[in-house]
Amino acid sequence: MGTQSDIKLIDENGLRLDGRKPGDLRPLKIQAGVLERADGSALIEWGGNKIIAAVYGPREAYPKHNQDINKAIVKARYNMAAFSVDERKRPGPDRRSIEISKVLSEALESSIMVEQFPRAQIDVFIEVIQADAGTRIAGLTASSVAIADAGIPMRDFVTGCTAGKVDGKVVLDLSKEEDNFGQADLPIAVLPRNNRIVLMQMDGDLTLEEFDQATSMIMGAIPRINEIQRSALSSRIKVQDSGGE
Ligand code: ADP
Repeated sequence: MGTQSDIKLIDENGLRLDGRKPGDLRPLKIQAGVLERADGSALIEWGGNKIIAAVYGPREAYPKHNQDINKAIVKARYNMAAFSVDERKRPGPDRRSIEISKVLSEALESSIMVEQFPRAQIDVFIEVIQADAGTRIAGLTASSVAIADAGIPMRDFVTGCTAGKVDGKVVLDLSKEEDNFGQADLPIAVLPRNNRIVLMQMDGDLTLEEFDQATSMIMGAIPRINEIQRSALSSRIKVQDSGGE
C-alpha cells in the first residue's frame, strides 16, 4: 500500500480513474486449454493482467521423500516475468513469490480430491506475463480452470476477487493505481458452492464495518467470476467434441 494521498482515485461523482463504480469488476476473460503440452492450462485476462496457468499431473512425486502416502502434494509456483511490470522485475523467486506460491498451493489443495492420488504431485505453474494488481487472485482463479481442464477431480472451483479501500471508500477489484496508492487491499478466494474461504490476506487497514462491506462486495462478485470459469471450461469441451479447432 502506498502512503501518497495526493492522487485522487475517486472523482466527485464517485467514479474511479477507469470510470468504474465502486462495485464494478474490471473486464475478465478466461480461456482454457491454451497449451498443448500441459495436462491442463488456462489464460486469464483480468483488467491489464495476463496470466497463464499450466498444470502437470497427478504424477509420481519426486524426490520420493516428499511423497505423502495419504494424498497428492499440490505445488503451485507463482512467477512474474521480468517484463510483466513497468520497471524490469529481477528474475527468479523472491520473498513475495514464495509467499504467494505457498498460499495458492494451500488454496488449490482444498479444492482438489488429493486423497485419490497418494504419493503423487500436482504441479501448477503460474506465469504472470503482464501484471496489473490482483495477480495472486487472477492466477489462482486461472489455476482452478487449468486443474479442471487437466481432468483432475475437484470438490469445486476456487474463485477469488479482491476488494480494498481507496480515498476512504471501499471498492471492488483494485486497479494498479488503486493498489499502489490506496489504503487497503483484501484478496479473498472461496469454494463457491459453499463459500468456504480458502485464501484471505490483508494489506493495510480496514475498520470492521469496511471489512464487512469489502467481503460482501467480493461475495457478490464470486458467482459471476465462477460463471466465467465454468464457461471457459465448457467451451473447451465443445471444441474437443467437434474434433479440435
Ligand atoms: P497482487 O498482484 O496479488 O495484488 P501485490 O499486492 O503484492 O500482489 O502487488 C500488486 C501489484 O504491484 C502487482 O500486481 C504488480 O502490478 C505490482 N508489483 C508487484 N511486485 C512488483 C515488482 N517486483 N515490481 C514492480 N511491480 C510489482
